[in-house]
Amino acid sequence: MIEKGSLIVYSGPSGVGKGTVLKTLLAPAGPLVLSVSATTRAPREGEVNGREYHFVTREKFEQMVKEGDMLEYAEYNGNYYGTPKSFVERQLEMGNDVILEIETKGAAQVKKLCPEAVLIFIMPPSYQELENRLLGRGTETAEQCAGRLKAALREIEAAENYDFIIVNDTVENARLQLMKAVSAGKLICRINKNKIYEVLKNVKTGNE
Ligand code: ADP
Ligand code: 5GP
Repeated sequence: MIEKGSLIVYSGPSGVGKGTVLKTLLAPAGPLVLSVSATTRAPREGEVNGREYHFVTREKFEQMVKEGDMLEYAEYNGNYYGTPKSFVERQLEMGNDVILEIETKGAAQVKKLCPEAVLIFIMPPSYQELENRLLGRGTETAEQCAGRLKAALREIEAAENYDFIIVNDTVENARLQLMKAVSAGKLICRINKNKIYEVLKNVKTGNE
């Protein structure tokens, strides 16, 4: 029987470097499969439909939610973002480790629904550095950046609910730590309860 893959939730405030760090682990023969989310936000320059996101209208997104196609979804800064369920389920069944790059409200939904998910939060070295990176990326208007930086405070507080925190000081450090967190995640007790029962189930104590 194929052992099911790990479900990994990966979050962090906008501009912290989630995409930059993750890209280094998603090479064609890399160890992780990325779940491509659906969103109602407009594509950024260079983003390709089906690669960075499935770009859909609000109507289409709401229909997907109504039909139960989403594992989780949330509204973030005026747009919907959600994880199509069937792709994730299929990949896990095939034994692949699947990573969901999602914000913290969606992560909380996954944690409730799938207690076996491993939650990893990527933190900036400081709030000032987060601001520099987000503004420096230059992909959002000043108003959108302000909204994202405000959301960042709420998201950083939510890091308490994660299994691992990685500080993205340098991309190389963060990459190595992300790899370690993915490996260590497979050993977390709540994910391995079956191993306890496997050993105990056939033991004759003599007290029965
Ligand atoms: P996110 O996916 O979290 O929104 P990005 O990966 O788009 O963030 O990174 C935001 C900006 O920060 C980009 O311009 C990226 O090149 C830069 N960046 C990412 N990681 C680092 C780092 N460790 N040090 C300095 N700049 C970084
Ligand atoms: P961006 O617009 O910068 O691509 O993404 C904005 C935020 O939405 C990021 O925190 C990103 O992780 C999050 N996000 C992307 N896809 C999903 C998703 O499927 N579900 C949820 N809940 N958040 C997502």
